[in-house]
Amino acid sequence: MAETRQKVLLLRHTYNPDEVVALGARLCYAQADVETLRERISRKDQAAFIAGVMARGHLSVIEHATFTFAIEGVSRALLAQITRHRIASFSVQSQRYVSMKGFDYVVPPAIAALGGEARARFAQQMETIGAWYEEWQRLLGDAGERSNEDARFVLPNACATRMVVTMNARELLHFFSLRCCQRAQWEIRALAWEMLRLCRQAAPEIFAQAGPACVRGACAEGKASCGRMEEMRRRVAALGNTEEPEVEGE
Ligand SMILES: Cc1cc2nc3c(=O)[nH]c(=O)nc-3n(C[C@H](O)[C@H](O)[C@H](O)COP(=O)(O)OP(=O)(O)OC[C@H]3O[C@@H](n4cnc5c(N)ncnc54)[C@H](O)[C@@H]3O)c2cc1C
Repeated sequence: MAETRQKVLLLRHTYNPDEVVALGARLCYAQADVETLRERISRKDQAAFIAGVMARGHLSVIEHATFTFAIEGVSRALLAQITRHRIASFSVQSQRYVSMKGFDYVVPPAIAALGGEARARFAQQMETIGAWYEEWQRLLGDAGERSNEDARFVLPNACATRMVVTMNARELLHFFSLRCCQRAQWEIRALAWEMLRLCRQAAPEIFAQAGPACVRGACAEGKASCGRMEEMRRRVAALGNTEEPEVEGE
């Protein structure tokens, strides 16, 4: 049993996602055939076409781009939240087919911040739950899947899991609006920002304005607003800092 940390990989995405989406956007309003459009759409045009359809709310166009992530070292508490997003596809490690004996677990930063003694106490509690789990496996006959499926009822939300998740770009934009927001719980928020960073590298135009709602306009949280809109905007802007800035007037 050990403490574990979040790990996110962008396994696959639509080849040239910005180009595919820009082509879809342009095709709706052009007489030219696909080959001609492909030749005509330069990188600069891609940005304009994508920004145009998004500004008009013509968001079905960005559904053409999909992104598949491998996520591990996250808690079952996070799993309960991310699976609420219905326009996503999930494959999650089973607690029936896979024994959770010696399970890894996630320690909330606020508990870790209490210091070594609190951390050790949390680890001890996980050991105790691990012992309960094994006790139930034994009492249920150590019968693999049949004992795991009931022994797991004593497992904690901290128990780590892994999954493969696929979302299209439209769902990702929605997910980032909700889950990059300071109102979202810390673990899914950290995951959302890392997914956004990876998406931004793969498709800078589609995700140019992605992030919490306040990045694009007023905060959607009303009285519950964190008031940190400027910080959020700077954070999103910094995600694009890998590119050379354009120098004008020289
Ligand atoms: C800060 C925060 C706190 C939360 N607290 C709670 C809580 O206390 N309790 C709780 O139960 N949940 C809670 N949630 C989860 C929340 O209610 C949503 O279930 C979750 O965020 C998924 O959002 P969604 O339904 O918009 O997205 P998705 O399921 O990803 O769907 C995307 C969009 O598709 C459309 N759509 C999808 N399915 C349908 C449908 N059947 N009919 C019509 N349109 C559809 C909607 O426009 C939807 O916004 C919380 C979420 C956040 C961000």
